Amino acid sequence: PTFADLGVDRLFLDGLREGRIEEPSPIQESAIPVLLQGGNAAIQSYTGSGKTLAYLLPTMTRAFRRAEEIYRTQSEGWSVQLLVVVPSQELAMQIVRAARALLPEPARPAVQQLIGGANPLRQREALAKHRPLVAVGTPGRLAEMVRTGALLLHRCPMLVLDEADQLLGSNFSEDLTHVCEHAGRKLPEGRQTVLVSATLSASVMARFGRWCPDPQFVTA
Ligand code: AMP
Repeated sequence: PTFADLGVDRLFLDGLREGRIEEPSPIQESAIPVLLQGGNAAIQSYTGSGKTLAYLLPTMTRAFRRAEEIYRTQSEGWSVQLLVVVPSQELAMQIVRAARALLPEPARPAVQQLIGGANPLRQREALAKHRPLVAVGTPGRLAEMVRTGALLLHRCPMLVLDEADQLLGSNFSEDLTHVCEHAGRKLPEGRQTVLVSATLSASVMARFGRWCPDPQFVTA
């Protein structure tokens, strides 16, 4: 199948072509239709398999469609639609690059990174100015922005925990809990949580399972 056959929004097809990403990898073929349904999912996949686009393409499809619907109906104000939490700044930057590459140039500020080591004031201004639909960040900075009210997550309908096995470390524990408990808190229909991990071990599922009940398991 093509990416379009799998249900990926047309908005992203030029970006894929320009990136010479021509056909879905096995994990993408498995994950995209599942994630487009909107339920919770746990993806077992490693770096190099195409796991990033396996979750970005369907969640960004849902994020942009939902944003369009909100804009059309004026039903609610702006909110981040997709929050991706990762264990390192380096990975956050890679994901932001991959997500922006899917978008036409003027739409690229719709993806913002919220990571430690960068100026928090600038990040706060970028949120206010660009009103991004997609935020990618590390637990410490995200928690700080939630605590100070710079980032409101109560209406954010999609949460991805990428490299969840690396997020297990106790140094992330409190911040991660703070962020995850805030995300989706007031959403009546609940939210979609996606776990992505090289191993879906008992410890990963025990730690993150409460934010991702009844996941559909996806492996390539
Ligand atoms: P990841 O596993 O997400 O770290 O991706 C590894 C690399 O594979 C990245 O450089 C992607 O741009 C590339 N990639 C992802 N999906 C595809 C695909 N379907 N065809 C070719 N390259 C891809």
